[in-house]
Amino acid sequence: MRAYQRLMHYAKFPTASAAASPTCPSTEHQLAFAKELQKELIELGLSDVTLDENGYLFATLPANIPDHPGPVIGFLAHMDVSEDAPAESVRPQLIEKYDGGDILLNAAENIVMTVEENPILQQYIGDDLVVTDGLTLLGADDKAGIAEIVTMAETLLQDDSIKHGKIMLGFTPDEEIGRGPDHFDVARFGADFAYTLDGADVEEVGSETFSAMSMNVTVTGVGIHPGEAKNKMINAQRVALEFDALLPEGDRPEHTEGREGFFHLHWMNGEVERAFMHYILRDYDFSLLERRAALARDAADYLNRKYGADTVKLEIEESYRNMYEVLLQHPHLLEIANDAIRAEGLTPRHGALRGGTDGSRLSYMGLPCPNLGTGSHNHHGRMEFASAQAMDCVVRILLRIAERYGQGIVE
Ligand SMILES: [Zn+2]
Repeated sequence: MRAYQRLMHYAKFPTASAAASPTCPSTEHQLAFAKELQKELIELGLSDVTLDENGYLFATLPANIPDHPGPVIGFLAHMDVSEDAPAESVRPQLIEKYDGGDILLNAAENIVMTVEENPILQQYIGDDLVVTDGLTLLGADDKAGIAEIVTMAETLLQDDSIKHGKIMLGFTPDEEIGRGPDHFDVARFGADFAYTLDGADVEEVGSETFSAMSMNVTVTGVGIHPGEAKNKMINAQRVALEFDALLPEGDRPEHTEGREGFFHLHWMNGEVERAFMHYILRDYDFSLLERRAALARDAADYLNRKYGADTVKLEIEESYRNMYEVLLQHPHLLEIANDAIRAEGLTPRHGALRGGTDGSRLSYMGLPCPNLGTGSHNHHGRMEFASAQAMDCVVRILLRIAERYGQGIVE
């Protein structure tokens, strides 16, 4: 089976994670998908296919080199999809031999994916594209990654001429809400190194990620009948707006690019007596991120002096750190990925991902973990798509990486 066919099948499972849920996995339907995937892996002939109570699905592909000394290499992808776009009743469609024009996603609703708004499409003229019906996301982030890893495993199980060491497959929940590594048992997974398949362009190797913090801002106001409010009411919502206005206006996602960091107001709600805002803070350099957190604390202190102690409460938590420092200690991880991409006639590009991956945290948990592209784009939206040929290319890259690690490494 080709990877895109798997993607079209997986896409139909609703697996959005939910930040508001405290459980792991955050949503029951991720577990339903994990069970289906588990069945498939067993049928394909993988060993030790285990799904734990938190929804982490691991499988082993034993070495076909006798007494292979290692290393054990792992491949990871996440099973959840973003909750930022409708993710139920996904109806993937295949556009065969894409001709370079606008794509009519949904005739009834007249939803068109235009080249003007999606110039990336031109990169894929002649390819077969998996697209949505314009009403939901596709979930190629990250089911394209799952499809590629499973197809790699299927190929290795069928073709004994490709010699490889022990390979671990891992499929994880709740990446989109930043909790993927929370219950990831690095020791049980048992790989020395791994690659996450969670990027876009095939030639892109993610070796740097943001360093990240999350910030909850709780504002407590003083409510009173508006008719008698003079000099008494403290409207928590207005204080919240004031707090936001104290953060540098240019440091927002919509004004930043490249290596610039930001404060992103992710969601907010409020009434007179209480307002709540959730932010994410991002920077490549951890010290810059710490400075950003200090700036937010200064803003809160100022407002607490103005309106009274404890009016504004901040909770700032580290989410993950730039993985580059860890990867530098294992240069083969990037070199082998580069070689595999070059063998496809492509020039590897080392992007600093403007986001995080599970790999950023896993790298600091003892599993060094760069990220590879999946041949899909426009993640988290209705214009999401994947190229079948790009996905085949990723599978070949994974096979090369597997084969190369079979020959051992020099640390
Ligand atoms: Zn992803």
